[in-house]
Amino acid sequence: MGTRIEIDQLVKVFGSGQAAARAVDGIGLTIEPGELFFLLGPSGCGKTTLLRMIAGFIDPSEGSIAFDGRDVTHAPPNKRNTGMVFQSYALWPHMTVAQNVAFGLNVRKVSGAERDTLVEEALAAVQMEQYAERKPTQLSGGQQQRVALARAIVIKPDVLLLDEPLSNLDAKLRNDLRHQIRNICKASGITTVYVTHDQKEALSMADRVALLRDGKVVQLGTPRELYRQPESKFVAEFLGETNLIQAATDGTGTLRVEAGAFEATPISQDQSKSKHILISVRPEATSLTPAGESGSLPGKLLDTTYLGETAQHLVEVKGCPLIKVAEMNPFGSSSRVHPEPGDTVGVRFDPGEVVPISAD
Ligand code: ATP
Repeated sequence: MGTRIEIDQLVKVFGSGQAAARAVDGIGLTIEPGELFFLLGPSGCGKTTLLRMIAGFIDPSEGSIAFDGRDVTHAPPNKRNTGMVFQSYALWPHMTVAQNVAFGLNVRKVSGAERDTLVEEALAAVQMEQYAERKPTQLSGGQQQRVALARAIVIKPDVLLLDEPLSNLDAKLRNDLRHQIRNICKASGITTVYVTHDQKEALSMADRVALLRDGKVVQLGTPRELYRQPESKFVAEFLGETNLIQAATDGTGTLRVEAGAFEATPISQDQSKSKHILISVRPEATSLTPAGESGSLPGKLLDTTYLGETAQHLVEVKGCPLIKVAEMNPFGSSSRVHPEPGDTVGVRFDPGEVVPISAD
């Protein structure tokens, strides 16, 4: 079940001469059968162009795309059996929910009882059976997007393509729908490619993520790999808050900044040979300690933002940019220190969470 998508050296150039822009610049990827695969990246990185080349709406300039070994690089959309869900839902306003979902089946000449059963099944998969006779205008945004999803999966596509499907919805609904969409995709076994610029969406839903920048894949991996082992500054920062620190190494896994020394277990022998390295430490892998505690760096607390379940502290540490420390359950009984702005504190980096990265 599910289709393998092989993308090889894919390029899309828009325009020509001086104005030519390489929107997709030599991308190679294999998306496994049944995988929920995310294309993530900032505006203009080429993710929509790549998705549209997989759908057949944009003709590639170079390279190839194959579905289960069948070359579809220049095949028109209707020869690929893909289902597509857009940000704008794109439902027919004059048709009922059931008629909207049946549309693709009518085009494929599926009729009668078979069509009705398939429509019912698709609406049940997105929990919209009871709305079958409503018009799209009588539905909320989230419900409309579930209908759009039912319409895409009812034709049993080889590949499901989703282009920022949750961007028009409010934060709470987006959260609810993330789980639902993931469950529907995984239950159907359809290979799914999902485009978003929202890193939380990608981290919470994806089997694997390709992070794009300037038409290229900068890192590919599971959500945990990308978040926990970013290879570059760009990846570390795109996926969340982090502390980027330039530190000196002495070849033993101990790093040094002006304020003092700290341990960093993932530093390899190779990296230890260079004199300075750039590291990333997430705020949640950083904690406040009483001043002067061994293994912590001396610093001054500048500011605390209290958010209820967490607090974000900003600490001045000599030789570092302002250090962000995230504390869970702040001022709770397990909190080791309750400093006020201006107090001297210690800052401790969890030694296993100090990740060496490249500067680009
Ligand atoms: P967004 O999140 O803003 O939609 P994106 O990552 O999906 O961004 P694309 O829409 O793929 O980015 O665009 C990639 C680059 O190609 C951009 O610089 C864009 O301006 C350019 N581009 C896209 N479509 C065309 C076109 N039809 N003609 C010329 N340039 C285009």
